[in-house]
Amino acid sequence: MDYEKLAELLFPHITKTVEDYEALYPARNLKEGARVTRFAPSPTGYLHIGGLFGALVDVLTAKATGGISYLRIEDTDKKREIEDGVSAVINGFKAFGIEFDEGVTGFGTEKGAYAPYTQSQRVEVYQTVAKELVKKGLAYPCFCTAEELSALREQQEKEGALIWGYFGKWAKCRDLSFEQIEENIKAGKPYVLRFRSDGSEDRRVYFDDIIRGKIEMPENIIDEVLLKSDGIPTYHFAHVCDDHFMRTTHVIRGEEWISSVPKHIALFKACGFKLPKYAHTPQLMKIDEVEGTKRKFSKRKDPEAAVSYFVDQGIPKESLIEYILTLLNSNFEDWRRANPTADAFSFPFNLKKMSPSGCLFDLVKLTDISKNVISKMSAKRIFDDLKAWAKVYDEEFYNLLTKDEEFSVNMLNIDREVPKPRKDIAKWNEVKDYFSYFFNEIYVPDLTLPENISKEDAAAILKEYIKVVDAADDKDTWFGKIKALCEPLGFTPNVKEYKKNPDAFKGHVGDVSTVIRIALTSRKNTPDLHSIIALLGDEEVKARLEKAVKEYE
Ligand code: GLU
Repeated sequence: MDYEKLAELLFPHITKTVEDYEALYPARNLKEGARVTRFAPSPTGYLHIGGLFGALVDVLTAKATGGISYLRIEDTDKKREIEDGVSAVINGFKAFGIEFDEGVTGFGTEKGAYAPYTQSQRVEVYQTVAKELVKKGLAYPCFCTAEELSALREQQEKEGALIWGYFGKWAKCRDLSFEQIEENIKAGKPYVLRFRSDGSEDRRVYFDDIIRGKIEMPENIIDEVLLKSDGIPTYHFAHVCDDHFMRTTHVIRGEEWISSVPKHIALFKACGFKLPKYAHTPQLMKIDEVEGTKRKFSKRKDPEAAVSYFVDQGIPKESLIEYILTLLNSNFEDWRRANPTADAFSFPFNLKKMSPSGCLFDLVKLTDISKNVISKMSAKRIFDDLKAWAKVYDEEFYNLLTKDEEFSVNMLNIDREVPKPRKDIAKWNEVKDYFSYFFNEIYVPDLTLPENISKEDAAAILKEYIKVVDAADDKDTWFGKIKALCEPLGFTPNVKEYKKNPDAFKGHVGDVSTVIRIALTSRKNTPDLHSIIALLGDEEVKARLEKAVKEYE
């Protein structure tokens, strides 16, 4: 067979050669050890939490080695694609501070010298490589119809074939003559382009997965489809062409692709391209709330499968990134202790330290980490983030927050920017309720007392306190006044004394301040009460105390 002639018959419109692309996309000029990684989502209009994990691994791997990470859009599967499915993915990354060095930056925009970074715009590249494979006798057109292929499968099943697929004696179109091919094409018969595998069932392939170590598998023997009937590549072929010409050094992708590696090894070899290093990352898992068992995230069942869930709830980007890093590298927490204020993106991430077994995503742990992260933020920083969040998700709260910005910052500053800041807020959608007592517009008093304090005692405490309260008092003076209230009312200012002899008192200073706290905030637990009083001001404080007295009397 004259393969040159066949190549011209199949690809008359392709005039470039593989050498042209080698020149257009030259080897990258990076220092020794620098890694080039890519994140390659399909534009489904949805950024999965697992995608955020993956992208972070790519970005950090490149950063830690002085390399390059890029974002490639894999839109060759028309069935899965939705209109402008790119923006949601990009916005998800932006919201969490993930920045790629190159690639697609928005709907219809990109940066970098290995462009275009969208597969549907690289069809000429794939077809050029495909043409080259045909010229070498390593690819051929296959005219089998869907019916023929399912008949083949049935036959394989009937014969008890160990391997199913298009290969060897089953590959009807493998040895068509030029004339037969030409005739079919003239007759307008649709065809796919298949790889002519020289694999053998008796041979095995080996590769080193960075996360999993040495892996051994049977060699690929299937004549895999390279180009579909519309000339668009399959994932396998696009992966080989793109990761070669975009000069990816490390292909980091989900573990579901491990079984395809023998195909990829065969294709890289056939194309004469150097095999990249592979790292197959474990699946992100969760504990099913009902079953209590580990399982994969489900787009349908788990709202938190979508990264937008965390944005909607107001989880700060630092919190989610921090949490993901604790899951990715077990030494992250030690690093964080040694570098408490460092940017998480400067963490020396190491692929080898990833565990090959599934990562378990735990919303409760994320919440704890977020409380910790937020506790270290300044009040101004919290205010800015909160305001931006509320603007989109809670207009009422936005209006309250911005009515008097200085007041809001002071409110957020209570027990903050101190050696042991409170760890009370995990996400912005909790703040309105948490601080509702600062805003009369939304505050709904509930003056229920703890069981150990009677209404009469509460009224008595508040009546005495009204006489002495002064929002301008410093903390010591304020507390001095609270303590002074105790004895005349049958309480003790001394907690130890109370514990020694509880029957001698109605309660202790803590109970007295609880009564005042409830009268002012309807909470048994709040940040520093003295600061709350100072911020609410005398008029409001007295009004609330009086209201409570009325309620208790
Ligand atoms: N587009 C593929 C996916 O979404 C990417 C796999 C890869 O990273 O190679 O699964």
